[in-house]
Amino acid sequence: MNILVINCGSSSLKYQLLDMNGEVLMAKGLVERIGLEGAQLKNETTGKEKEVIVTPMKNHKEALSVVLRALTDEKLGAIKDLSEIDACGHRVVHAGEKFSGSVLITDEVMAALEECIELAPLHNPPNITGVKAIQELIPNIVNIGVFDTAFHQTMPKESYIYPLPYEYYKKYGLRRYGFHGTSHRYVSARAAEVLDMDYNNMKIITCHLGNGASVAAIKNGKSVATSMGFTPLEGLAMGTRTGDMDPAIVTFLMGKENLTIKEMDNILNKKSGVLGISGVSSDFRDIENAADEGNERAQLAIDIFRVRVKKYIAAYAAVMGGVDAVVFTAGLGENSPVDRKNICDGLEFMGIKIDDEANNVRGKDTLISTKDSKVKVLLIPTNEELMIARDTKEIVEAL
Ligand code: ADP
Repeated sequence: MNILVINCGSSSLKYQLLDMNGEVLMAKGLVERIGLEGAQLKNETTGKEKEVIVTPMKNHKEALSVVLRALTDEKLGAIKDLSEIDACGHRVVHAGEKFSGSVLITDEVMAALEECIELAPLHNPPNITGVKAIQELIPNIVNIGVFDTAFHQTMPKESYIYPLPYEYYKKYGLRRYGFHGTSHRYVSARAAEVLDMDYNNMKIITCHLGNGASVAAIKNGKSVATSMGFTPLEGLAMGTRTGDMDPAIVTFLMGKENLTIKEMDNILNKKSGVLGISGVSSDFRDIENAADEGNERAQLAIDIFRVRVKKYIAAYAAVMGGVDAVVFTAGLGENSPVDRKNICDGLEFMGIKIDDEANNVRGKDTLISTKDSKVKVLLIPTNEELMIARDTKEIVEAL
């Protein structure tokens, strides 16, 4: 079964074509600058030459038709004909409280996702546009929705209700939803597999540390707590997002600087985090280079980032009454031994001991704790596309 996985951002589109008999990657690619000047597609078919196509793409539908042409290209494509694609799995960011798992996309599901636009005004519209485009370009194909929020729908009320007047939860759906669910689900299940332990009978803390970053507590295969909240702004200090802070800062700053809601929102989401603290960059590689050269604010940004991850690990062990495994994933989690080491330093009291030699690794499933570490620490590269393809296959097979 060949499955096309699609992830539409506001001006970008990522895709993978997977042969699910053996979970083999057939092709992958990225379209950037959709609707802008200089739009381009980079396609890579496994075993063939990479291809870059620069052509105007006004919207996601035009971008997807360029993608489909590249996939079926006589010379560089992965398939001969679109009929070789059996189903399409779509990453959709927000499903509110409507879906706790992946679903077959029907008219009712589309209507439910449209209702969630208010909760994710930047993410859901391009996701929905992607589904509509595929429905038009490959009319008879089965489309499956896989949601970032779904995995966290198992959180108990004490994890997701905010200490606000309860009526706002009822009126506006103001609650914690959590994000990166597909990644937390994939790496936690994979960690159990690598450790040869029973996923449904263990306590795992997953640290997804990319440009956006979140931590999740997974007990017996279910998410019970996560650091992102009503929006992806809450929790860890991120590339450009504040994460946790005193909410009174918002009204204080708006008053002092005479800011509009939009300007304040922009500061919280785009100008803060490690970029805001360091003044250097939102990319940890740049910040670490600057810190190495003696830039104190860059070092401070790193320290703030690390201590927050540490805090969440300890807090989530408390929430679950213990922890069997801690997992690091995403850009920084997969590629930075020094950050993993520093985050875990000081957690020996709860049974976490890093093996420096094993930790000196990038981007592959690895146990990085010492043999006598009570808590197992792992590096597991995330693979959201594979998870989306697996869900798609499962749903299609059950139809
Ligand atoms: P996104 O959230 O955009 O999907 P990724 O998971 O791809 O992000 O992570 C990208 C981030 O990972 C970069 O911004 C960078 O800060 C961090 N990163 C990648 N490689 C390294 C590295 N070797 N050392 C430190 N940080 C890294």
